Amino acid sequence: MAHITALDTLDVRFPTSTQLDGSDAMNPDPDYSAAYVVLRTDHPDGYAGHGFAFTIGRGNEVQRVAIAALERLVVGRPITEIVGDLGGFARSLTDDSQLRWLGPEKGVMHMAIGAVVNAAWDLAGRMAGKPVWQLVSELSPEQFVDLIDFRYLTDALTRQEALALLRRAEPGKRDRADRLLTSGYPAYTTSPGWLGYSDAKLDRLARRAVADGFGIIKLKVGRDIDEDLRRLKIARAAVGPGIGLAVDANQRWGIDEAAEWISRLGPAELSWVEEPTSPDDILGHAEIRRRTGARIATGEHGQNRILFKQLLQAQAVDVVQIDAARVGGVNENLAILLLAAKFGVPVIPHAGGVGLCELVQHLAMIDYVAVSATMSGRAIEYVDHLHEHFRDPVRVVGGRYLAPRAPGFSAEMLPASLTDYTYPTGTAWRTCKEYEN
Ligand SMILES: [Mg+2]
Repeated sequence: MAHITALDTLDVRFPTSTQLDGSDAMNPDPDYSAAYVVLRTDHPDGYAGHGFAFTIGRGNEVQRVAIAALERLVVGRPITEIVGDLGGFARSLTDDSQLRWLGPEKGVMHMAIGAVVNAAWDLAGRMAGKPVWQLVSELSPEQFVDLIDFRYLTDALTRQEALALLRRAEPGKRDRADRLLTSGYPAYTTSPGWLGYSDAKLDRLARRAVADGFGIIKLKVGRDIDEDLRRLKIARAAVGPGIGLAVDANQRWGIDEAAEWISRLGPAELSWVEEPTSPDDILGHAEIRRRTGARIATGEHGQNRILFKQLLQAQAVDVVQIDAARVGGVNENLAILLLAAKFGVPVIPHAGGVGLCELVQHLAMIDYVAVSATMSGRAIEYVDHLHEHFRDPVRVVGGRYLAPRAPGFSAEMLPASLTDYTYPTGTAWRTCKEYEN
C-alpha cells in the first residue's frame, strides 16, 4: 500500500514589482509568490500532489513554515485513506487543536491547510486520470456533501438543503460538461487596469481586451478620485458602450468614504465595486450597498465559509468572489459555492497573481456543471501573467477559459521555474537589481 512519504515546501517568488504589474491602492509593489508544497508518495507510478498558498512576497517566509507545520499530520498516511475521503482529510487538518488555536479556520494556518488540501486534490485528480473540475462534477450529491464541513453553516444551509440543490442540478450535467469542453467558460480581465500603468498603457490594453473577446474589464481605484474618474473615462472611450467596467478598491476605504467615493464614480455605470472596505466588515458592506445602490463584490480575502455565510445572510454582496488559495482548499470552496447557490448570488472568482487562474477555473466549472448549473452573469477573472511557469497553464481563447483536460488541479509549476525563482537563491533573484539593492 502506497503512503505519503514527504511534504516538501518551497519559497517561490517572481519579481513582478519591477514592472508594477499587480499594483493597486493598497498593494503598490507586489512580488507574486507561491509558498509551494509537494506531497510525495511511494506509489509505483510516481504520483505526487502539488499545491500552494499565494502571497505577494515576504509573506512567503511565514506561509511556508505554516505549511511545513502540517507535515506530521500528513506524512506516513496511506494515499487511499486521503484520496478516498477528502472530506475527512480536510477535517483532520482543521481539527488539530494545537494548530487550530492560531485561527480558528482563518489566517496563515488556514491558508496552509488550503495549500495542502489542494495538493491532495491534485493527487486525487492525477490518480483518477481526471481534471479536478470533472472529478468533483461526476460525484453523486451524497458524495459531494460528504466533502463539506457543515459545522457553523446549518442555520443557513443544512446537509439536506445542499443535497436538494445538488439534485436539482443533476439533469443536464453531462451536457454542461460537454459544453465546457467545446466552448469553455467566460472570462473577464484586469490586465489593463493596474494603478501603476500610464493612461496610454490603459488605453492600449483596454482596446486589446475588447479585441481579445472579453466582455468586462476591471480597473483599480481608490488612490485619488479625480484620477479614477479620468481613468474610467479613458477606459470607457477605449472599450465602447457594450463592455462592462468593474472597479476594485482593494479595501481602501472606511464606510462613509466608500459611500461618498462610489457615489461620485457613478455606481449605475459599474458592473460591480470590489472590496470597498475591510473584508471582515460584513455590516459595512451591507451599509455601502444600501447607501450607494452599487453592486458590491468581495471574497478574495474572505477567511472562511462562516464569513461568506454572513455576507449572504446580511444581503451585503451581489457577487461572491471565491479564491482557490485563501480558505481551507477545495472542500471549503465547495461549501461557499453551495451557500451562494442557496442565496441566488453569482460566483465570479478572484484570480490573477501566480497560479490562481489555473486553480480557480476548476471551481467555477464545478459550479456550472454541478451546483448553480448556469454561466449567466458569471465570469472568471483573468490576468495574463506567469502562466508560462505551469505544466498545464490556463488556455484563454476569445475571452473564454477552455476547460482543463490534464489530470489534477493544474497546480504544478515547471521544475526549472521552481529552481530559478526560489527565493533568494534562484537565478532570477541573484540577477535581480532590486534584490541587490
Ligand atoms: Mg480584487
